[in-house]
Amino acid sequence: MFKPMNIQKFFELFPNDDACLEHLFKIRYGTEPRCTKCGQVGKFRKLSKMPAYTCNCGHHIHPMVGTPFERSRTPLQKWFYAMFIFTTTRNGVAAKEIQRQLGVTYKTAWRIAHEIRKYMNQVDGDGPIGPKGIVEADKAFIGGKDKQGQDDKSVVLGVVERGGDLVTRVIPNRREYTVANAVTSLVQRGARIATDEARAFKNLPEYGYRHGTVNHSKKEWTAGPNNEVHTNTIEAFWGWLKRGVNGTHVWVSEKHLPKYLGEFEFRFNLRDRPDQMFPLLLVSFPKP
Ligand SMILES: [Zn+2]
Repeated sequence: MFKPMNIQKFFELFPNDDACLEHLFKIRYGTEPRCTKCGQVGKFRKLSKMPAYTCNCGHHIHPMVGTPFERSRTPLQKWFYAMFIFTTTRNGVAAKEIQRQLGVTYKTAWRIAHEIRKYMNQVDGDGPIGPKGIVEADKAFIGGKDKQGQDDKSVVLGVVERGGDLVTRVIPNRREYTVANAVTSLVQRGARIATDEARAFKNLPEYGYRHGTVNHSKKEWTAGPNNEVHTNTIEAFWGWLKRGVNGTHVWVSEKHLPKYLGEFEFRFNLRDRPDQMFPLLLVSFPKP
């Protein structure tokens, strides 16, 4: 159930650039679009020499306008194939991989990968989450070394509502005020929040949250009457994110980190509906 598209299905659906354009046209304008000029319905046909459709009144629709494909010289089918790779891979995609599979330059591959991450980020909500399910909040240090070999890790706050969405945010430091400020923008007041014993979370009740902690330094992993206070979900995400980022990318700068976080959030939040990843990515572009 809910299996993502496989490679055979991909090439059945998208055998060439025209098939991709037709698909894009349908999902952005509907199967029977009304012409904004003459008002007729469903009178569009593909122009032979342009990636555009024309109504029989002469009005044109360019399905790629407003999408990352618009000003790209990379053929549409290659873009679709790159999105296919991004939405069927579990642990992230390196630009090198895109370069090899698409037969494009590294620079082009890098740009395509970043555009796709940008739209993955947009599919996915940015909160605020809660207050229904228990929210787990935690900080992590993500990144690696900078070009001079110095430690260059960013502080990331992650919050996840059990049974709901996960949201991350890069924050400038791990001070109590900074962390609390980020929590208030990501989690609705009144939510129940589970964290570890870190000092940065101590004052959450003052911000209108019900707060439970587990003391990891004392090897306490769950607390509360039903053991509902724990941070296992967010920690599993960190583990997966770090393996993915470290395994796929040599280093991720703080500037680009939010895009990588968005990519992994997208996969995490759609983990039960992998079949929806590709279609949702394709409708993430601004409405025409
Ligand atoms: Zn018309």
